[in-house]
Amino acid sequence: MQNPNNTLWIKSPLATLNLACAGGVVVRGNTIVELVAEGNTPNSQIDETFDASQHVMLPGLINAHHHFYQTLTRAHPVALNKELFSWLTSLYPVWAKLQPEMVDVSTQIALSELLLSGCTTANDHHYLFPRGLEQAIDIQVEQSRKLGVRVHLTRGSMSLGKDQGGLPPQSTVQSEDTILTDSERLIHRYHDHADGAMVRVALAPCSPFSVSTDLMKASAQLAEQHDVQLHTHLAETHDETEFCLKMFGQRPVDYLESVGWLNKRTWLAHGIHFNDEEILRLGKAGVGIAHCPSSNMLLASGQCPTLDLEAAGSPVGIGVDGSASNDGSNMIMEVRQALLLQRLRYGASRITHQKVIDWATRGSAACLGRDDIGEITVGKQADLAFFRLNEIQFAGAGDPLAALILCGAQRADRVMVAGRWRVADGCIEGLDIEALKARQRELAAQLR
Ligand SMILES: [Zn+2]
Repeated sequence: MQNPNNTLWIKSPLATLNLACAGGVVVRGNTIVELVAEGNTPNSQIDETFDASQHVMLPGLINAHHHFYQTLTRAHPVALNKELFSWLTSLYPVWAKLQPEMVDVSTQIALSELLLSGCTTANDHHYLFPRGLEQAIDIQVEQSRKLGVRVHLTRGSMSLGKDQGGLPPQSTVQSEDTILTDSERLIHRYHDHADGAMVRVALAPCSPFSVSTDLMKASAQLAEQHDVQLHTHLAETHDETEFCLKMFGQRPVDYLESVGWLNKRTWLAHGIHFNDEEILRLGKAGVGIAHCPSSNMLLASGQCPTLDLEAAGSPVGIGVDGSASNDGSNMIMEVRQALLLQRLRYGASRITHQKVIDWATRGSAACLGRDDIGEITVGKQADLAFFRLNEIQFAGAGDPLAALILCGAQRADRVMVAGRWRVADGCIEGLDIEALKARQRELAAQLR
């Protein structure tokens, strides 16, 4: 059993992004305290050593966008082979039947799947609060603490039902007062502003087509008042642009600006259909973009202009998106998807394996407004992912770091969050994963 007060030298990884730690890293408490150059030994007094010579070491991957509950509706028969709006309207009535235990179990499933794929910090965008599900975020906090994964949970919302010209059914929307009061409750109860925070809360109206203008404005004001972040889906499809033009007389970015969201506090999921002038405005404002390649391909939404956004000044991160439009929550596989999709747009020499790993670590951290995670440097949180290259798809591989992405790594062998091993030998410490999967299958069948 690991002693949290020990000083641990993770020695001589097989490969890493940062050559300054070719000899390994020293971890004390929840922090990286020393980088060791190749061939050197640490200056710190060492209590324990872990030999990483068979492992590629990465900063823990950071998932910038997800909907955990959707793991219950993966490959759902009603949603197959559809694009966003018809996919959503097929699934809303199914999701409206969500129960508290379903949120509990699907949160554990999604977080476990993420953890096993090298993810140490996860965002979730939960926006469904049908009657009886008012404690959804509280349930998610409890489960994330048990698993020891760092989370950014967003208090999502939908207030524009079909009766008001929106897309979601009336039973899934809440009044604006209810949404704002609960948002404030969750911030007070769970949001930790400090460095090393394990739980942060952000405010996340679902999309322009499911909340009112007043709620967008009020959410921005509340976020500023409590110094928390803002998140939403934006510019995912042409349908959405048409909806905004019809409903508000504005394109999505103009609408976002008019409701007070065009600032550093905001990060957006997808960010596909921007024109050149909009990209410059988003970059100048420092709005972050969570690129979700699998979801964008599955729903045939389009390609995010990642490098243009980055050049303009926007942080770019990577998200797996919900498991009804991916339909997995595997973060290292998503990094590969980003490389493949973005190469179609920008070519092979500009989209390297280092580039996509950087998006999934430093870029995602910047989207979440954090500078204490996402890098292997002294003073940062000890969030690390280790992959062995012993599976069949790596047999014969040359460059180990490139192999991780190009050959298609699927599972981390070890994962450390805040200085504690949460995955060892490919298994999550203290979790009966077979029992969890069995319960998830039963609950998913109930929903169907
Ligand atoms: Zn989403």
